[in-house]
Amino acid sequence: MKAAVFSFHKFEKPFLEKANQSRHELVYIDTRLNLSSSAFAAGCKAVCLFVNDDASEKVLQSLNESGIKFVALRSAGFNNVNLKKAKELGMRVARVPAYSPYAVAEHTVALMLALNRKLMRAHNRIAEGNFSLDGLTGFDMNGKTAGIIGTGKIGSLVAKILSGFGCNLIGYDQYPNDELVTKYGLQYTDFKTVCKNSDILTLHTPLNDETKYLINRNSIELMKAGVMLINTSRGGLVNTRDVIDALKSGYIGYFGIDVYEEEEGLFFEDHSEDILKDDVIARLMTFRNVLITSHQAFLTQTALQNIADTTIYNLDCFEKNVECKSEIVN
Ligand code: NAD
Repeated sequence: MKAAVFSFHKFEKPFLEKANQSRHELVYIDTRLNLSSSAFAAGCKAVCLFVNDDASEKVLQSLNESGIKFVALRSAGFNNVNLKKAKELGMRVARVPAYSPYAVAEHTVALMLALNRKLMRAHNRIAEGNFSLDGLTGFDMNGKTAGIIGTGKIGSLVAKILSGFGCNLIGYDQYPNDELVTKYGLQYTDFKTVCKNSDILTLHTPLNDETKYLINRNSIELMKAGVMLINTSRGGLVNTRDVIDALKSGYIGYFGIDVYEEEEGLFFEDHSEDILKDDVIARLMTFRNVLITSHQAFLTQTALQNIADTTIYNLDCFEKNVECKSEIVN
């Protein structure tokens, strides 16, 4: 079967080829899917999409008209796909529910440690021959209270790792996980209490109508002065302008993000020769206590192979007209 792989990155190729074993004809397209690029899928039966591809109503309509009947997401999140429209058009949609929650959880903790111990500043200083320690004081993670918003696959692993550091764990989730309570002593409470009591606050809920701008002026006001805020989930969970105000006043002590609400068209791409037009991220980049990575939390060899294996399995299922385990619309 012929499938168009949008937002293709060359680091994915060996993993996709190993999984595919030439079963499907994969058309690699290094641009993002949108209304104008949807024409590149002509002649294909399926599209394979990534997090910033636009599978909104009009784009799905256009894909459907050119014969696409299957959307295989190479991601766990599916907030970029209009599922209602897909169902209406009779298009099946599958995803990769869990490719490596470890990858994302470990990157989350890497952001915490790098911000806390000021690793970027230390590295840059040493590159300049400056071996002084002034301004590099961190804090012990041991004994600090870490608040985990969303204790699903990734949030649970963050809890497990932080428990190893000796953090006190509190959490908020619509569906509490008793195992985290018994194994790591995590205490579930409401969102506001987690905001009030956390030294480190880390976000792991999906982006939906309820969680959009969960972190805003009001929730920031509840937090402890000097709080460390980490977001490796989806940019839209955080009102970035409100965070910038709190960084300017010094109220937020550290901000680590792997996702940004306006990341489409920016993240995953080399813009080093361009003029940066996004004033919000430009301002964020000026703070020494902000660490930004470009949606790379998933980027481990294990995760890439799992993504490739599940995506090819999903294409196999579609071709054989059987339901895939990870189907969200059929
Ligand atoms: P998951 O479905 O296992 O866990 C999400 C948890 O959030 C669930 O326990 C759910 O009950 C909870 N939740 C949902 N809505 C909530 C709400 N309104 N209030 C409180 N809790 C709520 O998902 P996961 O695999 O742990 O992934 C979490 C998120 O991480 C994904 O949605 C995705 O956006 C993001 N992610 C990011 C990367 C990356 O590379 N940065 C990679 C994979 C996933």
